[in-house]
Amino acid sequence: MTRKIAFKTLGCRLNQYETDALVSQFHKSGYKIVDYNEEADIYVVNTCTVTNQGDAKSRKAIYRATKKHDDPVVIVTGCMVDGQKEQLQKLNGITYFVENAQKSSIFNIADAHFKGETVNPEEYNKDLFGFEPADTTFHTRSYIKIQDGCDNFCTFCIVPKVRGRAVSRPIRDILENIRQVVDFGFKEVVLTGVNLGRYTYDGIDFEHLVEQVLEVPGDFRVRISSIEPEGFGDRLFSLFGHPKLMPHLHLCLQSGSDKILLKMRRFYNIKTFMSMVDRIRGRYPDFNLTTDIIVGFPGEMEEDFEQSCKIVREAGFSHIHTFKYSKRDGTRAARMEKQVPGKVKNERSRAIRDISAENKKQYRGSLIGKEQQVLIEKYNASTQMAKGYGNLYIPIEFKTGAGLQNNFSKVLLTGLGPGDDPVLQGKMEEWNIGKME
Ligand code: SF4
Repeated sequence: MTRKIAFKTLGCRLNQYETDALVSQFHKSGYKIVDYNEEADIYVVNTCTVTNQGDAKSRKAIYRATKKHDDPVVIVTGCMVDGQKEQLQKLNGITYFVENAQKSSIFNIADAHFKGETVNPEEYNKDLFGFEPADTTFHTRSYIKIQDGCDNFCTFCIVPKVRGRAVSRPIRDILENIRQVVDFGFKEVVLTGVNLGRYTYDGIDFEHLVEQVLEVPGDFRVRISSIEPEGFGDRLFSLFGHPKLMPHLHLCLQSGSDKILLKMRRFYNIKTFMSMVDRIRGRYPDFNLTTDIIVGFPGEMEEDFEQSCKIVREAGFSHIHTFKYSKRDGTRAARMEKQVPGKVKNERSRAIRDISAENKKQYRGSLIGKEQQVLIEKYNASTQMAKGYGNLYIPIEFKTGAGLQNNFSKVLLTGLGPGDDPVLQGKMEEWNIGKME
């Protein structure tokens, strides 16, 4: 009998990487991967607890699984299990709770369950990096976990409590993982973790790791996922000249006010952050910078917020992921005075998202007339339109023939589509332009 399994993943790229690896392992072992809306024998919910929204979406996904017919096996894992297990244990219909440390053992846990064994997930192997390279995933790109956990304890952040202290993956395993997924046919790998800049293994730091990743032979490109502005500098910036490394960084600013950065216990001020922005832009004028901003942090006055608006305009972030501050039990900020009312948070969030839309149009418009190397992800046969991301990590669509998915094409940018998230229009100049050496 072929068992059906469905996955729901909330939150960050790290969760995506871990789910992709589990999907691949179950698929290789004969399970049928079905959509989360369908009936399945087993449901895996990989939760997130970084914000109230993460909690709410995770609870909703758990509820949906536990309400399915025939009492499926429901495995709940991810940061909500590490942060709120007692509360989750009050819910009905959950078969197993698996903490982040044992997440890589979920296949063995399910297997033992269906063999009728008595299963206690806490007895299973604790290995934050025990995931197999994924050949079957839900994405065009392959996420590569290089690091987990964080030692910074920013006052608003629950991550160090639910993902533990910073740990770096052995570099040989990272390089082998990349070789394998490139052999599987992936054309883009995304380096991911909790605090990438803090990578250190056997004296090898993050910049050195990126250098070695770029030396892995093959027709693929490399992107760095969300990163804290620490642990790297000009050496990394110089690597963005390499044809394989995509000139994009999601550099987390969080606030434009030095007073608030101090209360957040961030490890930089606006002057040092902006000097990083200037050094990058000084080398690569078209470099794509995006960021995270928290609005409504306790004690954030109107003038602090105005500072955030000013800095995100000055830095010219082409996208600003905007978070309304959300209290996380167990963090220092949760106990701070001057909590900001919800109505004010909504207004400030709206204002930042408006700036983000303006910046995005301006940045993408500035690229018209330039060329991009696009990795085609989707193709619409009826319109003959292909869509994908350029090496600046911007969405581009253009007319082309069929069957070029997962191939690189050189595209001349000719215009900007409508809306707040305008897609760049292009004209294909050359296809299958691999050879990223
Ligand atoms: S550096 Fe990032 S992950 Fe670490 S505590 Fe701060 S916000 Fe959280």
